[in-house]
Order: sequence, then C-alpha cells, then structure tokens
Amino acid sequence: MATFDYDVVIIGAGPAGMTAAMYAGRSMLKAVVLERGFPGGELLNTELIEDYPGFESILGHELATKFEAHAKKFGAEFRQGTAVTLRKLPDGSFETVTEEGDVYRSPAAIITAGGTPIKLSVPGEKEYAGRGVSYCAICDGAFFREQTIAVVGGGDAAVEEADFLTRYASKVYLIHRRDELRASKILQQRIFQNPKIEVIWDTVVERIDGEPNGGMHSLALRNTKTDATSTLQATGIFIFIGFRPNTGIIDGHFDHDEMGYIRTDANMETSVRGLFAAGDLRAQLTRQVTTAAGDGTTAAIAVEKYLTALRHGHPNEPIQGSGGYAV
Ligand code: NAP
Repeated sequence: MATFDYDVVIIGAGPAGMTAAMYAGRSMLKAVVLERGFPGGELLNTELIEDYPGFESILGHELATKFEAHAKKFGAEFRQGTAVTLRKLPDGSFETVTEEGDVYRSPAAIITAGGTPIKLSVPGEKEYAGRGVSYCAICDGAFFREQTIAVVGGGDAAVEEADFLTRYASKVYLIHRRDELRASKILQQRIFQNPKIEVIWDTVVERIDGEPNGGMHSLALRNTKTDATSTLQATGIFIFIGFRPNTGIIDGHFDHDEMGYIRTDANMETSVRGLFAAGDLRAQLTRQVTTAAGDGTTAAIAVEKYLTALRHGHPNEPIQGSGGYAV
C-alpha cells in the first residue's frame, strides 16, 4: 500500500487511455496509466485491425504495443493495478484506489475503462474468440467474405450488424431466443427485406464447435419452445446481446445516458469538474479505435488547460482552445 501524486491519473490502457497518456506526456504532465491487465484494451480482442489510418493491416496486439511505446516515449508511466474506486474529494482533487490498496491522488482524472460486451457464456465461446467468435462487425466482418455466419441477439445492434455483415457474408442467420425482435421496426424491415438474412426464431446457441487448433465450424442450437436440438454450419458467430460500460468504479453521481454511457461535453469533460472520459464508455455514435484515440487526444489537451486554469486560481474557468476558441 502506497500513496502516489500525479497531475493526471488515466484509468484504462486501451487506445483512448494510451493516446491520452501520450498527449499528457507531450504536455509535460506527470501522468500515470492504471491498467488491470496488459495495455491494449479491446485491441487485444481483435485479431487484425484494418481500419486504423496508416496501417492497412496490423495485428491488434502489435498496434497496442506501438501505442504503449509511443506514450512511454513521451514520459507517461504505466502501472498494473485494478482501480476499484475513483472519487472526488472535498478539496476538488481526485483519489483513485486500487484493489491492492494503493492510492493515487491527482487534480484531474481521465476514465477510459472501456466497456464489456455481454458474453453468451456457452462452451466454445472463449476457445474460438478471434477464430470465428466476434463482438464487432466493423472490425471482423471482412474476414468472412462469401461465408455463412450467424448473429445472435434481437436488439438494434444485432439487427443492424446482421444487415451490415451481408456486405461480406454470403448468408447470415440471425438467431433470436424469442419469436419477436426487440429492435426498432425500421431496422427490422431492413433485415426482412434482405435476401441474405434468415431469422432463426425461438432458438439459443448451446455450444460453439470447431477444430481443436483451427476455427469454429458449427453451432449447436436448441429451440426454446420445443427443446429440439439442431446443428448449424457456420464459420463465424457475431454476438450482440448487449454491452456494459465500465463505469462502476466512479463513486458519486455523474451524468449518463439511459444505457449508462457517460455524457461529456466537447472537451470530454464529464458533469464532474476535472473528471474527463474518453473511448468506449462515453455516450457517442460509434466506438472505434480512431474515435477512442480522438477522444483521448481531446481529453488530455483539455486536462492540460484545466490544470493551467487551476494553477492560476480559476478552477471554474471554461476550457478554451488557443486563440480563445472553445475547443
Ligand atoms: P439490447 O437492446 O439490450 O438487446 C439485446 C438482445 O440480446 C435482446 O434481443 C435480447 O433478447 C438478446 N439477449 C440478451 N441476452 C441474451 C442471451 N443470453 N442469449 C441470447 N440472447 C440474448 O442490446 P443492443 O442491441 O446492444 O442495444 C443496446 C442499446 O443500444 C439499445 O438501446 C439500442 O436501441 C441501442 N442501439 C441503437 C442502434 C440504432 O439505433 N441504430 C444500434 C445499436 C444499438 P430479448 O429481446 O429476448 O431480451
């Protein structure tokens, strides 16, 4: 157990956190990134990245290593530790406590802890993750050109992504546990009109099967009404049964949308003065490596301006860009 003082504590070492760390370093701030596992975040769950500008194709873990090295080059520190509480103290500063009992104090904090796709929790899901099992159609869709794949879920995400995946796949089975979709009617209409999509109603996936050292090849299904079991041949399964933003460590009220995603202003500042959010846990249109990096950039630059205002005794001054334009 130890206490550390930093200018800014960044929670989470995904693309948003590591970009924030790089910019904090370039601003000469004393910054630390707390990460419970290895740096990379969702990059580590993605085999190949083909939509990060400048890298036509790069392994997820390789891009993660580059992000980390780049942030460290500019002086950011990385520490392994699971943050369990982030709270604002009466003096306006922040205290982040880790599972190990270490305390990090800082006048500003950036939470970039990402989110977690809800898992099906069936045999084979972990084993074939990245080898057929995916939680991101934009990231992995192109690997399934002219193949037969399945999408699980009946909400907006599943329906929208099933439609998107027909750009690549020759056939998409949408597997839903009930006889009615939860998705909005307009999205439903789109998939019912798409000849490449077939809905398998009242059905759950019980197991994902494949080659021991290769990819998956089929799904074991069960009808929820009749209990009849069947096998579906598919080389991919995209699971969209919900996503949870990792905001649980914030002790105290913060503004969020109805799904729990943190609302920020254009500077990535949350409703809590001095607390910034970036990446997948922020309420926004899309969740990509590029947008996470953009959020991290803005958050770190805004933190630097906030700390300057604090030093000059103006903690409530609006954060402004150079030349007086609001950033
Ligand atoms: P969601 O609306 O919560 O839907 C989750 C779906 O997964 C439901 O159909 C649910 O079935 C099914 N499901 C849950 N657990 C399951 C399990 N263990 N096994 C099989 N199926 C399971 O989640 P979402 O689709 O990710 O959407 C989240 C929010 O984002 C929603 O508010 C949505 O409107 C919004 N969103 C909007 C858009 C858009 O407007 N374009 C796109 C994406 C997401 P049941 O229906 O039986 O409960």
